[in-house]
Amino acid sequence: MNATLPTIAFIGLGNMGGPMAANLLKAGYALRVFDLVPASVEAAVAAGAQAANSARDAVKGAQVVISMLPASAHVEGLYLGENGILSTIEDGALVIDSSTIAPASARKVAQAAAARGLAMLDAPVSGGTAGAAAGTLTFIVGGSGNALERARPVLQAMGKNIFHMGDAGAGQVAKLCNNMALGVIMAATGEAIALGVANGLDASVLSQMMAVSTSRSWATEVCNPWPDVLPNAPASRGYTGGFGNDLMLKDLGLAAEAAMSVGASIPLGELARNLYAMNSRAGRGKLDFSSVVKLLAGE
Ligand code: NAD
Repeated sequence: MNATLPTIAFIGLGNMGGPMAANLLKAGYALRVFDLVPASVEAAVAAGAQAANSARDAVKGAQVVISMLPASAHVEGLYLGENGILSTIEDGALVIDSSTIAPASARKVAQAAAARGLAMLDAPVSGGTAGAAAGTLTFIVGGSGNALERARPVLQAMGKNIFHMGDAGAGQVAKLCNNMALGVIMAATGEAIALGVANGLDASVLSQMMAVSTSRSWATEVCNPWPDVLPNAPASRGYTGGFGNDLMLKDLGLAAEAAMSVGASIPLGELARNLYAMNSRAGRGKLDFSSVVKLLAGE
């Protein structure tokens, strides 16, 4: 631990937050952590963090607060209201929410933080669980430039690329654009591989060819949806430990809301949203979103 670095409260130690917190510990930050799942807190404590009894307890004495929760309702519940942590965060602390949530929700929480005199950034990430573990995430940031400069060293301990998209909420808008494209590309890749396999092709050879051809993408090369094509992809471990189908479904719903708010048309995004909804109804909501390939393979 490096005593010259700010103390960080980290709330939400799931598939993404767990490895992100681990990288902050490796960089020498003192961490006060909280999650509703005790096993996740224990894993962070084993890596050197200090356990807090609640989120309100975690933010005591912290100069930076980071949250990494599933969706808008969790983030609003954490920060706002009588029991929200905005009322107990230390004066002058910097607040960073890295969850993917509705832009309107991000603006609402940032406004409430500003009313308390606290600077807040929406800083959703891209790079998946592998990027979180490797410390190579892309941070997609909304908020003031000054707050971003204060946050930069902390973000650099967890990521490789930082993009300032604009004011509060702009990080979330950009993240939704990225994830809508990702949802479409994953479904298209799964459909193509399932078609090849149904016509007698080997999924690995087909994927190797696609990875150096014009359809190449993260979905083919890093998170290939077909089991046993890539040993480290969620597909090769029963679709566990990745980016949940229901989280992708949430993001495509947020993209649809963003489209409706400006009258934009997103035909492929809407189609993809329906595919992930069907995959969820088939019982794969908690599995990695690449399990949508099972739907496309007729399972
Ligand atoms: P997750 O479900 O694995 O983790 C969320 C964690 O938040 C859980 O451990 C849960 O117990 C905890 N939590 C929920 N409410 C809480 C509360 N009030 N107080 C404390 N802890 C609470 O989700 P994840 O995959 O880590 O994703 C987190 C966010 O990052 C989501 O918004 C997701 O869309 C986004 N994201 C995920 C990925 C990915 O590949 N998994 C990639 C980029 C962005």
